[in-house]
Amino acid sequence: MNAIRPIRTPVELTEAGLVGPDERAAIEAVAERYAIAISPAMAALIDRGDPQDPIARQFVPDAAELTIMPDERADPIGDLSHSPVEGIVHRYPDRVLLKAVHVCPVYCRFCFRREMVGPQGLGTLSPDAMDRAFAYIAGNPEIWEVILTGGDPLVLSPRRLTEIMERLSAIDHVKIVRFHTRVPVVEPERVDQALIAALKASSKTTYVALHANHPRELTAEARAACARLVDSGIVMISQSVLLRGVNDDPDTLAALMRAFVETRVKPYYLHHPDLAPGTSHFRLTIEEGRALVAGLRGRISGLCQPTYILDIPGGHGKAVIGPDAIQGREGCYSVSDYRGREHTYPPDR
Ligand code: SF4
Repeated sequence: MNAIRPIRTPVELTEAGLVGPDERAAIEAVAERYAIAISPAMAALIDRGDPQDPIARQFVPDAAELTIMPDERADPIGDLSHSPVEGIVHRYPDRVLLKAVHVCPVYCRFCFRREMVGPQGLGTLSPDAMDRAFAYIAGNPEIWEVILTGGDPLVLSPRRLTEIMERLSAIDHVKIVRFHTRVPVVEPERVDQALIAALKASSKTTYVALHANHPRELTAEARAACARLVDSGIVMISQSVLLRGVNDDPDTLAALMRAFVETRVKPYYLHHPDLAPGTSHFRLTIEEGRALVAGLRGRISGLCQPTYILDIPGGHGKAVIGPDAIQGREGCYSVSDYRGREHTYPPDR
């Protein structure tokens, strides 16, 4: 029988057949450190008969999370060092993150904010802190875009989201509001007309960036939730993390990007996994990632190509991990095509 509420404890994981009795002690130790939540939709998607199931790998805690590598850090992309006031991260001139909430409908085992989210995390912004965050946005006219993330902002009630949009509407220089979320995939039933109405404001353009990592996450229910958002006029883009054992093969990556495009979600970012504590079992090398992404060229439509990026540790922003397709200098370039064949540019006469 499908669960009707999220799985949150080692006992519930065992009862759901997701953790064996012999793993319980290690999972209890993981649970003391990092939050656990698997939504009913994701629990139903897990193939209990497959020990390598890519959905389980993303959400079921693993004893490997207790292994902390020397180069891992609690705040891998430097949110805290770029936070001028509580709840705001200002890394680039024209945009800020607004982190109103630090809870999620699921807790991803690879999360780069795993030390900040969950019941033991940074919590929800107080009304006073929200006032200071909006005052900061209003006082910095170069801020063109506000990105709500956290935590998952779509766990907020439509009433709270409406309040946020109304306050942003009052700030003329903010033109774009972007929500980063997993909700349409992990809790598609939450995307109803009240929630959709709350995400929109007449004077702003709303984007929703959907986080999904495996094509099986784009279920019929998830696709229908995205259709409701897109049909309402909201633009959708994707973000995924390249994860060992989840999507680190060309067929899976291609199917994921195609599933996004079929759902009217434009592939945007494919993140190289960050140096979050206890996540080394998910990480590929840059060279492995580069080879996988290069393999997408030519194999799938240009519409399906994500930008492969690295968040530079410490908060120095994003760097595109390019395919190095062109080398040389003006008048004498060597260009590789998607099959790896070299050509000169300009072409030889
Ligand atoms: S939903 Fe996002 S913020 Fe929440 S645990 Fe997953 S990756 Fe982290």
